Amino acid sequence: QKESSLDKKRKEALNKILDIKGCIRVFCRIRPFLQTEIRRIHEPVTIGLQKVVVKSVGSRKEFRFDKVFHQSTTQEDVFAEVEPILRSALDGHNVCILAYGQTGTGKTFTMDGTKDQPGIIPRVLEELYCQASMDNSSSTTFSMSMLEVYMGNLRDLLAPKTTHRTYDTAARCNLNIQTDKKGLVEIEGLTEVKIPDLAKAKWWYAKGRRSRSTSWTNVNEASSRSHCLTRINISHHGDDWKAKAEISKFWMVDLGGSERLLKTGATGQTLDEGRAINLSLSALGDVIAALRRKRGHVPYRNSKLTQILKDSLGDSSKVLMLVHVSPCQEDVGETICSLSFANRARAIETNGELPED
Ligand code: ADP
Repeated sequence: QKESSLDKKRKEALNKILDIKGCIRVFCRIRPFLQTEIRRIHEPVTIGLQKVVVKSVGSRKEFRFDKVFHQSTTQEDVFAEVEPILRSALDGHNVCILAYGQTGTGKTFTMDGTKDQPGIIPRVLEELYCQASMDNSSSTTFSMSMLEVYMGNLRDLLAPKTTHRTYDTAARCNLNIQTDKKGLVEIEGLTEVKIPDLAKAKWWYAKGRRSRSTSWTNVNEASSRSHCLTRINISHHGDDWKAKAEISKFWMVDLGGSERLLKTGATGQTLDEGRAINLSLSALGDVIAALRRKRGHVPYRNSKLTQILKDSLGDSSKVLMLVHVSPCQEDVGETICSLSFANRARAIETNGELPED
């Protein structure tokens, strides 16, 4: 019974994705209260199916999204809504899933998850092999790359170790973003590993995660000060194996915390890290706004993040942004900033009016 209702949800989500052309969909996820957080009688953030309302002293702001996940939404339910985009990638589209939000709002939980509650990336890996085998397609192969954008530099998270403990730092940093005449992006020097089966894929993904750098701020216990990008290249070989394969890119991006720097009380290195994150997030916002206008110059060149994602954000790509917010009163200011950012992105294109809820 449970299985069939999940199948129904998946079908509905697939129809929705097939319905939209080259656009950005934006989902919002509100995380549950943590044990250490104080609950109030009147909670500041309330939600509907496609609506988030934030109340703070003397103001009420309403935001609309393609989907809103409430506090008890499971990882499985989130994935059921995300999964159709995976089909698009297998069908040859470039795809990009972006997790946006203040530090501590659940971006890593959504993308990576925990051992018991795996997030989008481990589920995508499983489902890719599952769907490829159902398609009975030996002509589809996968490879993986992982990198981090940290203080405007790129780090190769899958670069080979030179000794048991240390990484070849030159290999980790010496990456070059190139765009060819067709507008396809190539990151020269980035390690790309073949992942012929799920076990290998999980092994490499775990390795990349371990290489990620984090530092501390006082907004939450630990906040990620870099963007972490995981890319699955899907190679579609035609009947002629000697011919060049068509490649589609599947990006899954855990963006750095979007919090305003004043609030974090950061100084020194952490302040610099925060500034770098904010610059690239605002560059991402500008690119999305330009794509929304559907004309004129799209300022991809303003950050490494947008240069890397250039061929996966535009017209023929499928983009899904998951904006994460906290349920707490203390975070209302950040919540409004995050929702405003995501609302801007969402306005790119939708079909028809949204239903009231
Ligand atoms: P971020 O990556 O945005 O900094 P995290 O993913 O580290 O945030 O989440 C912060 C904390 O909240 C973690 O302890 C995480 O397990 C918990 N958390 C976040 N979202 C959820 C959720 N939907 N359900 C349960 N716990 C969550």
